Amino acid sequence: MAKTVRCGLCHHRCLIPPGGRGLCGIRENRGEENSGGGRAFEGGQDSSGGLFLPYYGYVTAAAVDPIEKKPLYHFRPGSRILSLGFAGCNLRCPFCQNWEISQLGAAAPAVDRAAQPLAQPPAQPPAQPGGRRMRPEDAIALARENNPAAQIAYTYSEPLIHIEFLKDCMELARKQGVANVLVSNGCISLEQAEEIMPLIDAANIDLKCFSKKTYREVLGGDLETALNSIRAARRYGVCLELTTLVVPGLNDGDAELEKCAEFIAALEAEPFRHAPVEPGEKRPEAEGRPVPWHLSAYHPSYRWDAPPTDKTALLRQAERARKTLRYVYTGNITGENSDTPCPRCGAILVRRRAYRVESRLLPPENSAPGPQPCRCASCGADVPVYR
Ligand code: SF4
Repeated sequence: MAKTVRCGLCHHRCLIPPGGRGLCGIRENRGEENSGGGRAFEGGQDSSGGLFLPYYGYVTAAAVDPIEKKPLYHFRPGSRILSLGFAGCNLRCPFCQNWEISQLGAAAPAVDRAAQPLAQPPAQPPAQPGGRRMRPEDAIALARENNPAAQIAYTYSEPLIHIEFLKDCMELARKQGVANVLVSNGCISLEQAEEIMPLIDAANIDLKCFSKKTYREVLGGDLETALNSIRAARRYGVCLELTTLVVPGLNDGDAELEKCAEFIAALEAEPFRHAPVEPGEKRPEAEGRPVPWHLSAYHPSYRWDAPPTDKTALLRQAERARKTLRYVYTGNITGENSDTPCPRCGAILVRRRAYRVESRLLPPENSAPGPQPCRCASCGADVPVYR
């Protein structure tokens, strides 16, 4: 007899009846069919409770972007990266900039800043979410064809709810020397985060605010779950950067942003445990690696119509954060100061004007596997910018 199934992938831990889908609209209980056939190109079982994955391999957006757009400023600056997006999300941020692909089945939204708790899966998830279907080998081949840097980003909406496809791609990418980049809200269980982080070279994870209430009631997320994923990324030697979209009246208070900065500072101070990447293998360098923080300006979108983040206020917040952190950048505003200085001699290592990037970096001396620190062209020191 068909049974109700619990999905353990994220903090929602959806209890899904036969014929139903979880809150993300991505993971489905097909009753008896769940147990047949395992993972396959035509859809298959998940790794967290025998659910069916109707959108396995569906890529709803594909583009070759500057890596700065992720945003990643300390990993291969100036390079381009194949960026793949997927349908759906396990959060409901009312100001989502990518809501057309993240909010499955959402009609053109009415402006409504009232919190809409995640109580129901999308009304009618489409049979096919648009875009095209790819096998992991297609995705990796496309990454190799489209950029000499050979790197692939899982990005745009929330890739981790497609974790089975991501793992298949990432494992293949690793074998073929293609770097894996994750852009995520970080809201997945610690168990799943611990499984996927060793496969990732660089990541930008959202730290959306430092309020449990805002995470839960406005965004449909969970602060502690996001913090745990961030800590896991750090532990596994991922080149980690964090982003906070600064939304006026929601998360732009000095005290709240200070808590974010203090959390990041504590993270930077933690020694790495150098978790093995392959049995017996260790990432060769990680200690001292900073966690750059991007403070991005919000613009009205989806269901949120508050005026955009004030540029002067954002620059002031960034200046305050620099008292605590080494690398703080502003984004989504014009004329921002987003240069990266050498921590030893102060020379500009990377100069950025919009997406025009000039770098004065020497290649890493170390040729060990995994991201390695470049050197400053002025003083020759190892610097926290990686290749
Ligand atoms: S991944 Fe989707 S189905 Fe699974 S617990 Fe999260 S919202 Fe529910």
